[in-house]
Amino acid sequence: MARDLAPLVEGATIDGTWWDWEPVFRYPGAEAFAERIRGRRVKRVARRAKWLVFDLEGDTVLAVQVKMTGQLFVLPEGTAHDKHVHLRLTLDSGPVAGGGRVAGRRWLLFRDVRKFGRVGLYRRAADGTILGADEQGELFGAHGPEPLADEFTLRLFRERLRRRSGRLKSTLLDQSFISGVGNIYADESLWRARLHPLRSADSLNTDQERRLYRAVRGVMNEAIERRGSSVDDYTAPEGDGQMQEHLDVYQRTGAPCHRCGRSIRRFELNARGTHFCSWCQRLPAADRTRANAALVRGARRSARRGRNWSELGGPETAS
Ligand SMILES: [Zn+2]
Repeated sequence: MARDLAPLVEGATIDGTWWDWEPVFRYPGAEAFAERIRGRRVKRVARRAKWLVFDLEGDTVLAVQVKMTGQLFVLPEGTAHDKHVHLRLTLDSGPVAGGGRVAGRRWLLFRDVRKFGRVGLYRRAADGTILGADEQGELFGAHGPEPLADEFTLRLFRERLRRRSGRLKSTLLDQSFISGVGNIYADESLWRARLHPLRSADSLNTDQERRLYRAVRGVMNEAIERRGSSVDDYTAPEGDGQMQEHLDVYQRTGAPCHRCGRSIRRFELNARGTHFCSWCQRLPAADRTRANAALVRGARRSARRGRNWSELGGPETAS
């Protein structure tokens, strides 16, 4: 999304803010947001964790959490839109989505069907960090490293993984462990690394750690190159992403595993669907008790009947 938006909005000046749903403003409130953003030029659009980060003139930062269904469109001012657009920023003339330029003003629309998305205005400190609300702490202070950053080495990954005793899937989704990995890419990474989602994070041998490290970086790199996964109702403004056509396990329950041909299975963990191959991703005996406990907790939470690991994969031996 950041790569799609950058050529459209970099260099644009923001002239106004319209909204019809105040909770979209995470910080500050609607009026203060509109006041502070007006007249500012967009210098750069990038991504940090699962947020879009717009660096504006001065040291102001517009941070957008798109969450599951948030979309950003750049269209000519006055273009008709549906009721799911809850925020509009008016931009000066320039390029619009789908190619072409308009002589008049443009709109940057934030459309969000499920309304989980938020925007905020923050300040970038001299050391490059983004300060949080009321300039207290860092906006991304609780976030772990970016998996694609040069600093994210196998050594760092190992050190962090060995301090975690939770399930592998939950650990990958924990944004304080590693930033930006969501449900789809966690499942894909674990399949690629041939590791069961319910393994204890600290139980991996060095070869398994290396496989997982490479799988996470590989999957995230490919997903970005393919402009993401347009699953369920999501469509991208500049055309859908392509990653959904290259997924090996996510939403492939019952379909043959691309490696061994056996059926992909699914279970719920923390109310999220988890997809895996029980043949390629074995659960060692030592992990079964804790895996079972995680499943029962998840099942209780989603008010479903408890299942145990044996229903998921049959008798298994340690890999
Ligand atoms: Zn398989």
